[in-house]
Amino acid sequence: MTRPIVPSRIRKVFDGRVFSVTVESITLPHGDHLEAEIIRHPGSVVLVPVTDRGEIVLVRQYRPAIGRWAWELPAGSLKRGEAPDFSGQQSLGACPKCGSRVFEHGVAYVCEKSAGAVPGCDFRSGKIILQQPIERAQMEKLLATGRTDLLTRFISRKGRPFKAYLVKTPGGKVGFEFMARTPKPGTAERRSAPAVRRPSAGVTPAPKPKQRAKPPAKRTRRALGNF
Ligand SMILES: [Zn+2]
Repeated sequence: MTRPIVPSRIRKVFDGRVFSVTVESITLPHGDHLEAEIIRHPGSVVLVPVTDRGEIVLVRQYRPAIGRWAWELPAGSLKRGEAPDFSGQQSLGACPKCGSRVFEHGVAYVCEKSAGAVPGCDFRSGKIILQQPIERAQMEKLLATGRTDLLTRFISRKGRPFKAYLVKTPGGKVGFEFMARTPKPGTAERRSAPAVRRPSAGVTPAPKPKQRAKPPAKRTRRALGNF
């Protein structure tokens, strides 16, 4: 379902200095054909320079597309094949796949080896996943400990809100981990069964005096698609 669709035909209609345009013939899973017009751009960076006095520095440039001079934040495009420069950035932690450093890059957190002319790693995790913003501190926590805090503002593709942890999966990707649902009243007798269960069984034994701490609720994991 999340597998990419390979175009049956790619026609390059423009190949300029800054970007190229292709028309790609695509057949969607339900059979519709689409001629997708795609602009490919090597990526840009925008800076927000702030002076010691708290002023933001803008530049004034002529923009042919609007036929006017415009005040803008300083920005620049990457040259094709050029790796982004992470030198001014602090790494968030080690890449779960290859151990290299992870940085913010555009709308994602990426392995430094994923962004060069010859990518050596494909670790990438979006800064917004299913409408839940993933703060830098949460990504740092995920890389360091394997799990974020419980994030409460995910919205599923069907529009349902849900809570989940983001976790590192064994394959070095980012996945969801869900809290088990609270058992319904009809299943209460199972919870009071005297059998000792491992915490991973997800069943809280009946409370007894001096019993050890309540085991953590069962968690389930699911790998994320591509974000
Ligand atoms: Zn990596």
